[in-house]
Amino acid sequence: MSSKSPQPHACRAHVGPPPAIEPTLLDEAPLVIQLEREVEEEFREPMRLRLEEKIRQVDDSISGAAPRCDECGDPMKSKGRKNSSFLSRFGKINLRPRTYRCKRCKIRVRPLVNKLGVELGCVSGSLARLLALLGVVVPYELAACLAYLMFGVKVNAMTVWRAVQRLGEACEQYVEAQTRFHTDPNTQVPEPDSAPEAVVLGIDGCMLGMQVRENRRHRQSADEVLPELPPVEDGHFREVKTGVLLLPSQRTEPSPGRRSVIRRVLVTCLGNADMIFDRLWSKIQELGWLGTKTVVVIVGDGAEWIWNRATMFARRCEILDFWHAIECAWKFARLRFGEESKAATKWVSRLAEDLRAGKVESVIKRLRAIKTRSPEEQEKLEDLIRYYDTNASRMRYDEYIRLGYGIGSGAVESSHKQVVHARLRQAGMRWSEDGARRLLALRVLLLNDNWSMLDRLMMKPIAA
Ligand SMILES: [Zn+2]
Repeated sequence: MSSKSPQPHACRAHVGPPPAIEPTLLDEAPLVIQLEREVEEEFREPMRLRLEEKIRQVDDSISGAAPRCDECGDPMKSKGRKNSSFLSRFGKINLRPRTYRCKRCKIRVRPLVNKLGVELGCVSGSLARLLALLGVVVPYELAACLAYLMFGVKVNAMTVWRAVQRLGEACEQYVEAQTRFHTDPNTQVPEPDSAPEAVVLGIDGCMLGMQVRENRRHRQSADEVLPELPPVEDGHFREVKTGVLLLPSQRTEPSPGRRSVIRRVLVTCLGNADMIFDRLWSKIQELGWLGTKTVVVIVGDGAEWIWNRATMFARRCEILDFWHAIECAWKFARLRFGEESKAATKWVSRLAEDLRAGKVESVIKRLRAIKTRSPEEQEKLEDLIRYYDTNASRMRYDEYIRLGYGIGSGAVESSHKQVVHARLRQAGMRWSEDGARRLLALRVLLLNDNWSMLDRLMMKPIAA
């Protein structure tokens, strides 16, 4: 045998992979992590003690003469002190607030508790707001895990849930009161100093599955598995509506044809059409965006309820969302030319180009000249013609582009997904009316970059 005889050529596919090696972990965390944690642990207790000390100083500063009753003005009588506590970022804080009582009105007050704005027996202060923040972003169970990983505080999901409910309720009540104020015909709002020339307003909605039962179910023990929830029945859905306000001047164009929005203000509600429009009206006033010359640009999908209520804005420009207009054309094109056919794409592209150029009348004329080949095709064509006919005055797309108003509600749809879908429409989620309302109120606060407003709201009591 010649030494030159060729070695069998190993085909890649026939060479087995090298044997897998079991991965190993470090024996312990790198030293720097250990040191950081040591310092944190070391100073947690001094911070806790320091907070207790500061609270005692506040107590000393207010414990002079007995306060007078708010109702009758009589001096109130001290009923002594009682051991109390609350959970802070640094652990359990003990305090002994004094209680005063008015004999005549039978009113009790604890000046220290009022001065601090603390909730005794609860998570309170900055920790409550941090837990709520986590609960607004991820499901409550996960939020409780994160609270431990991020702040070293051990709480259960119910504690996170409660923080969201109490702060959410405070936030929702504030928004409601502000809406009542701005929609009250007696409210006189001065003409804003520098109202914008135009404000774009859009609305989107979706359904949420609501709980059928009255109360939350509680596990009796940690390992009890609750039976699966029954499917949501018809009639147990509620619509969530999200409104978006933005200034055309604040739209940017990062690359040609791709518009994105820097600043948009969100408004949401679990309620009817009147409610979302009232809240939008209130928000636009609060922002100082509605001057006597401001044009409110309303982008809608053609739903009557939007146009009916848009009349509350004296100077307005109604726009039929361009993408809805095109989608309706697709329905006909798919039927006539076939799903995903080149002819359908070509037909719709030409139509889109003409609409964008503001030629809606000639498009309608062309549609009317089409000879259909089946009753189904005829029906879709008639739908399309009716849709364009009804909305023709809202389809001057060339003009809207020239004025910088934009032609689509993409910003609205993406905002709605951020407000609702990302947290409230995960698999198997079911909501109580109040629970959804409160969570939505907080999500909007966060997404509007206004979370710090919560520092200026007191937690509200909630029933159970
Ligand atoms: Zn009194």
